[in-house]
Amino acid sequence: MRHKTFLLLAAALTFTCACRNTVAEVEIHPIQDNAQPRLMQRALFSEAPDSLIAELGLEEGIPASVCAFLVKADGKEILFDAANGAPDSQLVPKLISLEVKPEDVDHIFITHLHGDHIGGLTADDKAVFPNARLHINTVELDAWMAMPEEQTARIRKTIELYEDSLDKFTLDDTLPCGIKAIEAYGHTPGHTVYQIGTNIIAGDIMHGTALQVKYPQYSARFDMDKTQAVETRKAVMKTAQEEGLRVYGMHFPDPYWL
Ligand SMILES: [Zn+2]
Repeated sequence: MRHKTFLLLAAALTFTCACRNTVAEVEIHPIQDNAQPRLMQRALFSEAPDSLIAELGLEEGIPASVCAFLVKADGKEILFDAANGAPDSQLVPKLISLEVKPEDVDHIFITHLHGDHIGGLTADDKAVFPNARLHINTVELDAWMAMPEEQTARIRKTIELYEDSLDKFTLDDTLPCGIKAIEAYGHTPGHTVYQIGTNIIAGDIMHGTALQVKYPQYSARFDMDKTQAVETRKAVMKTAQEEGLRVYGMHFPDPYWL
């Protein structure tokens, strides 16, 4: 409902005024962070029967990746998530190869606060992207901040380092560059996907596309609320299909979209 309201609103704005809420051109660059090929272990999908896994030829694991996405829109450099910041992280080298220095990044939108999505925000106790506004759904941030400190040390440290540039938002807020946040809860309490132009940056709605596109009822162990994650997965893919949107995922294998 909210989504439909937004589309009507966006259409009205396009028609009536200077288009601050629409994006004429969007350039999306998937950035695979992992240097080595990545397979999600079959055991992560424990509810999927062996017979199905064998039929799909996925006994050895399901092809995946760890990705962030650089989006150029509205004259801004926009990053969606920041991958895991492992020692062999490809994020910063690949940004530089796209002629984007870390200090050039204007906005970072976070899908959720797992380490493989925010690890790359910091290095050596410093913010890697010193000039970026950091956008996080209030529901996600508040949920993690309510958890015990010892389980959330990395998140707390990251938020502290970005304290002056943190923009907590709700789903009703207007976000910069025509970006729309869409509720996609389940994987984490406030997991959020983003629409920009005709694209959805879908975070962790799937961890093994070769299984879950056809069989969305099977969740990976990482989904904190599996029932809700299944509903979200189905809803996002249904919307994408109905509206002709391209879906990019942080763990989709090359080419990183469906
Ligand atoms: Zn993830």
